[in-house]
Amino acid sequence: MGLPSCEGEILTKPKTQLRPVVREWMRRRYKYGVQLHDVWTENSDGIDLGPSNRHWKVGAPLRRPAVKTVFRMRNGDYMCQYLLNLHAKNPDTVDPTCPLGCPFIDSWRHTFLCEKSGVRDLVTARHNRACEIVEAAMRQSGHQAWMILRNYGKVDGGPEEKTVPPWMLGWERGERQVPDKPDFVVIKGWRRTWPPPEGPVMHVKDADEGEVSVSLVLGELKYADDIDMPRKHEMAREKYAPLIRQLAEAGWRVNDRLATVVVGHRACVSKENAESFTILGIQTQRKHTELQEKLAKSAAEWAGYIVAHTRRYRAKHGGGGSAAGEGGLDTGGGGRRAGNRGVPP
Ligand SMILES: [Zn+2]
Repeated sequence: MGLPSCEGEILTKPKTQLRPVVREWMRRRYKYGVQLHDVWTENSDGIDLGPSNRHWKVGAPLRRPAVKTVFRMRNGDYMCQYLLNLHAKNPDTVDPTCPLGCPFIDSWRHTFLCEKSGVRDLVTARHNRACEIVEAAMRQSGHQAWMILRNYGKVDGGPEEKTVPPWMLGWERGERQVPDKPDFVVIKGWRRTWPPPEGPVMHVKDADEGEVSVSLVLGELKYADDIDMPRKHEMAREKYAPLIRQLAEAGWRVNDRLATVVVGHRACVSKENAESFTILGIQTQRKHTELQEKLAKSAAEWAGYIVAHTRRYRAKHGGGGSAAGEGGLDTGGGGRRAGNRGVPP
């Protein structure tokens, strides 16, 4: 006897040691569910926890409706047919599938991204905005002089810029048979004010710097399910490995590591992004954190806009049984107020 202990261990870190015990006790005592807790804790390895939880800290630069949206989406409190069905006294009376007629269970994810609610343009704009945020950080970190080709930012119906134009590989599109549209390609060493090179180039004479070596860095940005971000990195790397090989064979010096940046639908950011930021020339820890926070903030705001849009759309076009649920959800003014602001920035 003597020192206080927990399950045979002396208490040296009471919070850490007691947390699981108290959780288990509460689960039994109050019959609390732990499914969400398990999902998040078992899949948190890929998440950069600091910036991903920036939303609720004092001084967070986020409007309340966006914070609410993210909180609900993360915590199984996001109103969808599936949740209504789960909570219904008589589940037979509440259809858990999409009220717009998709043959899928209307989970939070489906409600959020259901194509029938016309969400596609918003999702594209969200992706493009995140690309702009990364590009701005690159330009502030030593890449301001270089040519950056980008495959985003043309939401107004204009043609997209080619990130691998014909001169880069010496072939026309369609001959390549490999994915050749990464979100951006940095031509390091080649000034943005020059006309593009005519073909593969390893060195260039620069009036200011003398002979400069030229190399390519490829980047790809993806939105994904927050608990599945490491796989998204892997998928993007696999997708563009053949292109990177072909560029090297064509005579380019090319970074064989694709810079993959992954952001979660529920406003988390991936831990692996840091490595990609370094590839993109963004060096310090402070800058990494700053960029992660900007991406997380943008994701949260867009989540707000998308939710507001889908709710309005469903209310108008036969949201069906979800109307009551939406009323319940919006008592705090959540997504609806965000929607009234109209066009996102
Ligand atoms: Zn649907």
